[in-house]
Amino acid sequence: MPLRAKLATSATRSAAALSRVTGRGDGSVIGGRIGLMIDPNLLSELAAGRHIVLISGTNGKTTTTRLTTAAMSVLGDVASNALGANMPTGHTSALAKAGPTPYAVLETDEHYLPQVLDATRPRVVALLNLSRDQLDRAKEVAMMAALWRETLASRDVQVVANADDPMVTWAAQAAEHVTWVAAGQRWHDDSWVCPECGSPIERIGEVWRCTGCALHRPVPEWTIQREGVVDPTGMYHEVKLQLPGRVNRANAATALAVAAHFGVRVADALPRLAEVKSVAGRYAMVERDGRLIRLLLAKNPAGWLEAFDMADDVPTLLSINARDPDGLDTSWLYDVDFSPLRGRRVLISGDRAMDLAVRLTVNGIPFEHVPSFRQAAAAVPPGRLEVIANYTAFQDIRAELDRVN
Ligand SMILES: [Zn+2]
Repeated sequence: MPLRAKLATSATRSAAALSRVTGRGDGSVIGGRIGLMIDPNLLSELAAGRHIVLISGTNGKTTTTRLTTAAMSVLGDVASNALGANMPTGHTSALAKAGPTPYAVLETDEHYLPQVLDATRPRVVALLNLSRDQLDRAKEVAMMAALWRETLASRDVQVVANADDPMVTWAAQAAEHVTWVAAGQRWHDDSWVCPECGSPIERIGEVWRCTGCALHRPVPEWTIQREGVVDPTGMYHEVKLQLPGRVNRANAATALAVAAHFGVRVADALPRLAEVKSVAGRYAMVERDGRLIRLLLAKNPAGWLEAFDMADDVPTLLSINARDPDGLDTSWLYDVDFSPLRGRRVLISGDRAMDLAVRLTVNGIPFEHVPSFRQAAAAVPPGRLEVIANYTAFQDIRAELDRVN
């Protein structure tokens, strides 16, 4: 590594460590920012010589990155931005901190995929799904799909993509090598219209096709069946995860499909996947004063649908903020159908609990407002409490539970 890159790497590590020691956060953003100021090519320098995987999509990035890291660990040390700092500063910091590992699995923000592809030259890119997110600043879904499609058309990279998402399929089809995974799509409201020709998309069971052009669901090589996955040879493998829901079995299938491109056998990867208990606080089950509390993160309408699928039928706290990392616009609450919660005891809190209150009233869901997480826990009888929260609301609750991992 050139001298400048070496200096920049150690500056990245020191700044991140200083930030942690002074309690300003995990340091992954500031460390990377300083490193990239000293050497703008630092991410490329740090990526050189490693086998890199990028994971992108609207939902499930952090969890799939964690599962893929676990699967790849069969082969050796794997660097990863496990805490979800998913822009080039975070990637730079993660690689600087990890030292010279043979492999790296990097969660990548959808908007930054082109530039991170350029900088890191990955062997495999996994594309999970695309749906509306952060209405006040994110790209429209079709624009994001177009950006990915244009990016992938000119690169020699193996893509692992979700065949059940028409937007992802259209983007991924531009790539030369694609492995299709039937990773599912519960949220259909951003893919009723074909991104190629504008005609309606028709769905019959799990099969979908455009009514105006040739775009259709590709035949997946990896599928989810019952409690497991079927690999490209047709063999069924039971997948035992500690993470809940079908969506996490799908994330596991993507992780297995990615690792298979590096020669990892499913049977070797599965025990590693089973060890993953929680992901940066998500899905963690915590006991407090006789209440068994689980935290689910849901940041956008598609994420809320998945959370309802994972949540148990027990008292449920919903917490909503609209701070900068969440996006300031809460009108997305009207895209979520909260009716799966009907019949459960629902509590609400967070900075924007009143926005949620109006939405639940319109949706006909009775609720109680509680000023804080602590009061919510005290309000329910001993037993289970499910918590579904968006990004900063989730972090607030996680901090109250002593930064549960
Ligand atoms: Zn079409």
